[in-house]
This record gives sequence, C-alpha cells and structure tokens, in this order.
Amino acid sequence: MRTGTHPSINSDTKLCAVIGNPVLHSLSPAMHNAAFQAVGLDCVYLAFTVSDLAGCVAGLRACDGFQGLSVTIPHKVAIMEHLDHIEEDALQVGCVNTVVKKEGKLVGAVTDGTGALRAIENSGVNLKDKCVLFAGTGGAARAVAFALSASGLPKKIIILGRTAKHVDRLSQDLSDYGNTEIQGGLLDEELVALSGQSDLLINATPVGMYGVGEDENSFPGVILRKEQAVFDMVYRPEKTVFVKEALLAGCTIVPGLDMLLYQAAIQFEMWTGCPAPESVMLAALKKALHS
Ligand code: NAP
Repeated sequence: MRTGTHPSINSDTKLCAVIGNPVLHSLSPAMHNAAFQAVGLDCVYLAFTVSDLAGCVAGLRACDGFQGLSVTIPHKVAIMEHLDHIEEDALQVGCVNTVVKKEGKLVGAVTDGTGALRAIENSGVNLKDKCVLFAGTGGAARAVAFALSASGLPKKIIILGRTAKHVDRLSQDLSDYGNTEIQGGLLDEELVALSGQSDLLINATPVGMYGVGEDENSFPGVILRKEQAVFDMVYRPEKTVFVKEALLAGCTIVPGLDMLLYQAAIQFEMWTGCPAPESVMLAALKKALHS
C-alpha cells in the first residue's frame, strides 16, 4: 500500500470496508479512516449494507484496489464459504470478522478473541490460574473463550447461557480444544452461585445495550466483590447497569470499548502491515460514539 503525508482520493486509493446488515451505526469507519489518515496511508474505509453476500464478495474480489473487510452480523458465518483460506482460530470459532486480500487470495480471520485478550491485559487483570465466567454463548463468547483457552492462562472457564443446547455445544467444543477445565450451565439456575467463585465475569449477551434493555443488569442478583473483574462486551452505553454496579463494588473494569478498539487495531495491522495508531483510533471511536 502506498504511503504519503497528504492522502487524497485518487486512482491509487485503496479500499477497505465493513459489510453487514445493518451497518448504519457502525463506529468502524470513524476509527479506520482516522487511522489511515494518521499513518498517511492512501486508503479509505466505507460501510456497505449488504444483502447479496455472494455478489458482494465476487465484486470486491474483482477490484484491484480492494484491500480488506470487517464483517459483521449477519454475514460472519456465511462469508466463510466465499473465501480462499480461513485461519485456524477462525475455523475453531466458526466465524470470520476480518477478510484480508493477500496475493490476490481472500483470507478470513477473527480478531475478537485477541482483541479481548489485549483489553483484559491492558486493564491489569492477570488471569493466571483464575476462573472466568461467561454469560452468553454466541459468536463473541466463542471467540473470546477460545482465545482464553489458547492462552493457557485461566484454570477454569464457566459457560452460562439461556439455551441448553448452545451451552452444551460451546462447552463441548472448548473441552475438545484445550486443557482448561470447562463447566457449562443455565444462566437463570447457576449465575449467582457460580459468579461467586469466578475472578472475571464477562457479559457476552446484548442485555444492557441501548434499545435492547439498557435498564437491565446482565448479572441480576450477583453480589460483586472488589477482588473481581468485570468485562461487559456491550459498549453502548459505555457504562451499562452491570458496569455501574461493578464500579460501586470497586471491581476492576475491562471496557467493552477497548475490545472494539483492539480488534480493529489488529485488523488495521493485517490490512496494512503498519502498527495501528491506537490512541488516534480510540479518540475517533469515542467522538463517533458520543456524536
Ligand atoms: P450473538 O452471536 O447473537 O449471541 C448472543 C448471545 O446472547 C447468545 O448466547 C444469546 O442466547 C444471548 N442472549 C441474547 N439475549 C439474551 C437475553 N435477553 N438474556 C440472556 N441471554 C441472551 O451475539 P454476539 O456477536 O456473540 O454478541 C454478543 C454481545 O457482545 C452483543 O451485545 C455485541 O454487541 C457484543 N459484542 C461486542 C464486541 C466488542 O468489541 N465490544 C464484539 C462483539 C460483540 P441464545 O443462544 O439463547 O440466543
């Protein structure tokens, strides 16, 4: 990718984009365009609402200046069959949130897990021999649980969900994958008791999000202790009911916004080969979030 101090759109300009449906409120264009500009890369990042996924990938594949994609709901699983290669960790997780064009081939990757690990580490939370509890069994929980298992740090991962077959599937996949002790259970039966013995509590459900139930606590009835850390993947609002309670209890907070930032920073590095300007990306993210 060509670099320069004053990028402007011209016939050399490269294209990255987020595809999903909807993408109207995506914060990714603000983050990535700020990053391209800060580093002086001649690249733009756009947001495309896509319903015809096969047509979209075929079209982008044919464009010389296309560099890579962020992929969001509902295309994270379906896109896998349109790619030339999928990285091992994305195969384990079962979805792709990043596409990189490498020597003409489209490669699928997942950056949510590594991004979350960086967010946890950055908050000063040490997971060596600790117990981590997830509420939620969807794509985000899968990505982060596999990354935690691969890190070899926690001694135990607890998976709680509202749908037994989803809990069983993720628990079994994790047990088959690594050496970390895995326990599964139903949210409404086991949350309170198992939260008490956990060091890091992760909300990987949409509970607490604007428009979904921002007045709801994703860990109802749980009495938090200051020795515990809390990670709410929901970042709209930045302080969910769960995070507010955790702050009152004196817990360490892993911000959901940091996961969004770091997974994007890893994408940027994959597309460009340049270190991501994380402080610029965070400032753009916060500005877009509050505008
Ligand atoms: P997903 O694949 O749709 O999974 C959602 C999970 O939440 C499922 O396990 C679902 O249970 C559960 N759930 C939904 N509503 C619930 C409720 N009312 N009570 C209890 N459980 C409920 O979504 P995802 O991609 O994993 O994302 C999960 C959350 O993380 C979303 O809020 C998303 O915005 C956030 N996220 C944040 C980042 C970040 O960078 N901070 C990245 C990815 C995702 P069932 O299996 O029973 O349906």
